This record gives sequence, C-alpha cells and structure tokens, in this order.
Amino acid sequence: MKRGIAILGSTGSIGTQALEVIAAHPDHFSVEVLTAQSNADLLIAQSQVFNPNAVVIADVSQYQKVKDALDPLDIKVFAGVDALAQVVELDSIDVVLTALVGFAGLQPTIKAIEAKKQIALANKETLVVAGQLVTQLAQQNGVNLYPVDSEHSAIFQCLAGEWHNPIEKIILTASGGPFRGKKKEELTQITKAQALKHPNWSMGAKITIDSATLMNKGLEVIEAQWLFDLKPNQIETIVHPQSIIHSLVQFTDGSMKAQMGLPDMKLPIQYALGYPQRLPSDFPRFDFSQFPSLTFEKADTDTFRCLSLAYDAMHVGGTLPCVMNAANEIAVSLFLNDEIRFLEIAELVEEVMQHHSVIAQPQIEDYFETDSWARETALHKIRG
Ligand code: NAD
Ligand code: MG
Repeated sequence: MKRGIAILGSTGSIGTQALEVIAAHPDHFSVEVLTAQSNADLLIAQSQVFNPNAVVIADVSQYQKVKDALDPLDIKVFAGVDALAQVVELDSIDVVLTALVGFAGLQPTIKAIEAKKQIALANKETLVVAGQLVTQLAQQNGVNLYPVDSEHSAIFQCLAGEWHNPIEKIILTASGGPFRGKKKEELTQITKAQALKHPNWSMGAKITIDSATLMNKGLEVIEAQWLFDLKPNQIETIVHPQSIIHSLVQFTDGSMKAQMGLPDMKLPIQYALGYPQRLPSDFPRFDFSQFPSLTFEKADTDTFRCLSLAYDAMHVGGTLPCVMNAANEIAVSLFLNDEIRFLEIAELVEEVMQHHSVIAQPQIEDYFETDSWARETALHKIRG
C-alpha cells in the first residue's frame, strides 16, 4: 500500500525537497494534494508531474490560471485559505506534510489532526503558537506528529527504542548563522542580502532570517518542549558551526546519544514520511576527512536577544509564545521590506511581548485574537 501524501506549501524549500524524496520512492508514496501561496507556474508544473487528486492555490487571483492548466488532467483545483483547511480531509490522504510558513499553518494542521491524518511537521510555528492545544488534540485523535525540523528529527531518531527511558535533557545544536561571533556594534548596518546568506542550509527567506537572529533556535526550543513533552529547564542549545551533529539527548544515566550526517533536509523529510522505515537514499555521505574537527560554543544571547526572548516566552507560556511568533513574523517581513534594521527585529518582538496581558489557559479563539493583536501592535509601533 502506498502512503498518500498531502504537501501544504509544495512550492517552497521543504515542499520541493519533499517532492524529490517522493519521486525517488514511487512505490512508497503517492501525491494526493499540493498547495501553494501564489506560485501558480510551479504548482502547475509539479501537478503535471505528480498528478495529485487536488491542488489549492491560496492566492485567489491565480485560480483561473491554475484551473485552466489542470482541468484537462482531471485535477480538482481550489483557491483561498479556507480551502487549505478543507482539502486535508480527503480520504486518500494518510500523511499531511505541513511545509507552509508561519501562523498560517495552525488552522490546516488542526483540521488535518481532527481528520485523523498523520502529521509530518515542518511548520514549527504551529507548535510555538499553540503547542499545548495541538499536542492534546493529536493525542485525542491518535495522531502522531513526526518532526521534519532536522534537530527534532535527530532527537526523534535518538529516542528510537528508548521510549520507556526518561530524558534528563536534550541539547539542540545551532549553526550560529551568518553573524556568529559578531557583536551588536558590528550588526548595525547588516543588509538583507547578508542576512539571507546562510552558511550551511538553503531555506525559505523567513527561516533564513530567523536563523540569522537565532529566533529560529528559540522557536525550536519551544517546538521541542511540546514534541517531546519536556520541562523548559530540560532544553539546552549549543552552537555547532559545522551542522554535522543535528542534536543530542542525555538520558538519566548520563549517556548521550547524537544523530549526525551532512546538513541535508531531504533526510529528515524522508524519515518523517517513511517512518518507521529507513528508506535507502543516494544523498551525499559524511566523510570524516572533510571535517577533522567538530566544534562547540555557547550561544551569545546578549547579541542574539531573540533566543532569550524565546526562553522567556516558554517559561511564561500561555499566549506569550503566540505573541512572540506573530511579532517576529511582522518584524522579519518589515526587515525584508527595508522598513527596520536587523537589530530592531529583536527590539520590536520584545516591545510587543512586554505590552501583552498573557492568557494562561488559552482556547483556540484566543490564539487567533492574540495573533491579530500582536501583528497590529507590531505594525503600529513601526508605521504609526
Ligand atoms: P518557503 O518560504 O520556502 O516555502 C513556503 C511554502 O508555503 C511555499 O510553498 C508557499 O507558497 C507556501 N505558503 C507561504 N505562506 C503561505 C500562506 N500564508 N498560506 C498558504 N501557503 C503559504 O519556506 P520553507 O523554508 O520551506 O519553510 C517551511 C516551514 O518549514 C517553515 O515553518 C520553516 O520554519 C520550516 N522549516 C524549514 C526548513 C528548511 O530547510 N527550509 C528547515 C526546518 C524547518
Ligand atoms: Mg531546524
């Protein structure tokens, strides 16, 4: 039996790599649904190759173009964000890969869980915003959340066969991004182009900026809290510039397990889609002679404030991580739009967090209201 896969965000960095994995294993997977924000041309081209049941283009102005191209192939075409939440319920889907960016991932992920689809989770923002609600819902529906994020995949792989052994702590590795070793004074004039150049990974724009500010590691700390049911003080980070060790688990006997390999997102994507099987691959192999030393250093959280803001948000909990995420999404887009400077990303996120009255036990509506409030507040602070 082939596994039916829906890819939310098939035209992005994770989405296109997932399609490469699927193309290499036609006996294991079939593509049931593809979705994109606005890249109609790529969505059409992907659909012509993979022949899904249905596609969604979120940007309604592109609907007619996609519809005209795919009608002869008998592929159902939908448009708009609400369609994303509906299409994940299709019977033929077994696994939903959430590879879209930001808060937009929350609603379709919830719908997919309610429809009892297994989740391959790339969209970390979903767990940052509403980790408690989403993990509870997954448990109630007997749904597994398979991590795609490389650090969380590493932890997940280290935990295979260890389910009954308590974790003492986990250590998430961070590359340190393009500005590792720099101090605040050196970061005042950072340009968009410099921030978009990641040393080890090629990724979408938003996560690349998050990697440069270390917000990405902050988001991952909170993501790990929910995926592995950990207390905040059980989650540490370490900067490891070579990105070979993808993360580590320490058990209560003091033993540590790490997962390593070259930085290549196709591996964690394939592990999540194929679990529990390790499917063969021809991805480039690690060669010790190319990496004679693997190094580790503490993260500089004075310079990269976002990482400590994320720890603050995790400790307080409730709606604060949701506020942090929304303010960060706005800050990153303002930076990419040349409206604020690099160091102002953390400043803006912190300011919005300080203005928020936390709801300790939020319901689903609270997350949507809080997200809108934080976006408006952040925009207002910059644009007036
Ligand atoms: P990307 O920008 O390359 O692609 C995003 C995809 O989602 C595109 O197909 C786009 O059309 C779609 N999309 C964007 N906004 C949307 C919206 N509002 N509604 C519907 N569709 C929308 O992003 P990416 O780098 O592939 O990252 C995707 C997710 O995976 C993010 O949450 C990111 O943090 C996470 N992630 C990415 C990587 C990586 O290597 N790229 C690694 C770990 C985790
Ligand atoms: Mg990661």
